[in-house]
Amino acid sequence: MADEQAIINCTGCGVPILTWWASGNHGLLRGDYVLIADTVWHPKCWEKQTEKYAWPELPTKS
Ligand SMILES: [Zn+2]
Repeated sequence: MADEQAIINCTGCGVPILTWWASGNHGLLRGDYVLIADTVWHPKCWEKQTEKYAWPELPTKS
């Protein structure tokens, strides 16, 4: 089955990001972005966000 692509604006800076969505399989990501819940971020934007707010229950980077 083919993966689906979607262009979603980065929640941090608003710049569109091309994302890939593997059908029937979570956790397969290609490209330079991170998925946080239902939002899409550039890794750098997400880092900035975490530094800014230091939320207590963020997923830790592995
Ligand atoms: Zn961004």
